[in-house]
Amino acid sequence: ATPTSIMVGTGRAAQLGVLLRKGEALQQLKATRVVAVDKTGTLTLGRPVLTDLALASGFDRAPVLAAIAAVEAQSEHPIARAIVQAAEDEGLALPTVAQFENLSGMGVRAQVQGHHGGQRIEIGADRFMRQLGLDVTAFAAAAEQLGQEGKTPLYAAIDGQLAAMLAVADPMKPSTPAAIAALHQLGLKVAMITGDNRHTAQAIARQLGIDEVVAEVLPGGKVEAVQRLQQSHGTLVFVGDGINDAPALAQADVGIAIGTGTDIAVEAADVVLMSGDLGGVPKAIALSQATMANIA
Ligand code: ADP
Ligand code: MG
Repeated sequence: ATPTSIMVGTGRAAQLGVLLRKGEALQQLKATRVVAVDKTGTLTLGRPVLTDLALASGFDRAPVLAAIAAVEAQSEHPIARAIVQAAEDEGLALPTVAQFENLSGMGVRAQVQGHHGGQRIEIGADRFMRQLGLDVTAFAAAAEQLGQEGKTPLYAAIDGQLAAMLAVADPMKPSTPAAIAALHQLGLKVAMITGDNRHTAQAIARQLGIDEVVAEVLPGGKVEAVQRLQQSHGTLVFVGDGINDAPALAQADVGIAIGTGTDIAVEAADVVLMSGDLGGVPKAIALSQATMANIA
């Protein structure tokens, strides 16, 4: 590539809202074989809403929702914001919280102050409940159904007793379906890497025509998932927005951050999509192919 063609290509990319942080990115993108994407905040808006709340017998909706929202008010996770919003919408007063713990990739735990003393609240994925020794089979069929609708099922336990199964749904970004279709048009494979439930991830992948799904990945596991895809497919682009995407962005041949995501993701990336529009990914790859073809 001549310096001039690289400069022209970089300028053209900027016009498309694609910021190339490293000069080599434009050359490397041409060799892309597989595009791996994070789900929450990358394919989806990252602003889930609470859609379902089923109670175990002996538990009432208002106190359960108030208690879990009080705990989630301490968490920064998008799921947490959905639950807090639902409690606010219902006008519930949130109890006082102590000893909040964030169990990465699993869920959250805290003590809340109730009418009859403190209660221990635990909220998270089914694997978290199993780790606590709780049996979720009573809700398993309903949770699987919700997952197949693309919703994320979660569980809440109060003082070590399963109290509720809830679900959140995160709307798709309007630009996502066309961006995935454009990547396929370029002859590329598309993979999704997510910490979310596997039924949920598969439902969303099916809806978008995504070729491969790696689900229920723990926060440290995204790098390993990227390495495995590099071994099986070759040159890989990873697209993500979150703090826990930074190592995968660094491991990828080209890391692309959503500009509206966290600073830590942007810092780890080679390319930044200024508008947060995933459509910038196929545009950047096509531009790389055109730029490099010009000077070949
Ligand atoms: P992702 O960014 O793909 O959602 P995370 O590692 O942040 O991956 O979360 C994985 C899973 O852990 C979530 O889908 C959820 O089941 C559970 N989880 C994480 N944080 C919370 C939270 N604050 N409340 C409830 N569940 C949570
Ligand atoms: Mg994300």
